[in-house]
Amino acid sequence: MHMESNLLNNTVAIVTGASRGIGRSIALTLARNGACVALAARNETQLRSVQAEIEACGGNAICVVTDVSVEADIVALVRRTVEQWGRLDVVVNNAGIGSFGPLAETTAGQWDRVMAVNARAPFLLCREAIPHLRRQPRSFIVNITSVVGVKGYANQALYSASKHAVMGMSKALAKEVQKDGIRVHAVCPGGVDTDLAGQARPDLDRSVLMQPQEVADVVLFLVTRQGNAVVDQIDMRRESSTPWV
Ligand code: NAP
Repeated sequence: MHMESNLLNNTVAIVTGASRGIGRSIALTLARNGACVALAARNETQLRSVQAEIEACGGNAICVVTDVSVEADIVALVRRTVEQWGRLDVVVNNAGIGSFGPLAETTAGQWDRVMAVNARAPFLLCREAIPHLRRQPRSFIVNITSVVGVKGYANQALYSASKHAVMGMSKALAKEVQKDGIRVHAVCPGGVDTDLAGQARPDLDRSVLMQPQEVADVVLFLVTRQGNAVVDQIDMRRESSTPWV
């Protein structure tokens, strides 16, 4: 890894699910552009390896082992980040899990688990972060939802419901915090080459999937806007998928 710009100097970011996949790419990208990044996930070994990569090129990161389905962990994540750097500018709600199969075979336990990680956790992190984000003239919440936060696919009803929940929260929250200079964005990718995509779409040839870096580039675009233009939502699809549907 090498530093790319100082666009995010004096910026502090929290990235959940930073241990691997899309979140790892987002964390590395924000750090490469000058942000101090709090890396949150459960797997401490993987978090440490992301931290080492950031520090090796002169970036700043802390690891905060976090289970986002545990409210106290989210409270501690925000507290620890602000204790470390004294501010918070960017929150990326990225941690997520899938549960795929027919709705008629889905258990209440599966429903509760996916909702806890994919929908309840972003709510809790936004709630905890907003008092700190308000202190900056401009700050950002980026929710990584999904194409199934906008549409529905068979065998993805639970996952889709969890992502629609975050979309709804994003739309309402954006209005609530607009006066505070907090922008709330949703990024809605289709298939990205990670462990999760392997579970969701085992039928897809991995070579046609998007790369995690491509999602990270979109997040960087959103959190480095300086002017008056705001892009609320970005939909991303595989080049081989059907355009404009
Ligand atoms: P991934 O490679 O499976 O990574 C998931 C990340 O979430 C890991 O860092 C994992 O860390 C973290 N995580 C899961 N449960 C957690 C928990 N209870 N507490 C804290 N962290 C937790 O999946 P990915 O594809 O990068 O997914 C990232 C986000 O993108 C998800 O929200 C997903 O829904 C969304 N997305 C993915 C795709 C795709 O095709 N891959 C498409 C659209 C949207 P630990 O295991 O270390 O906790």
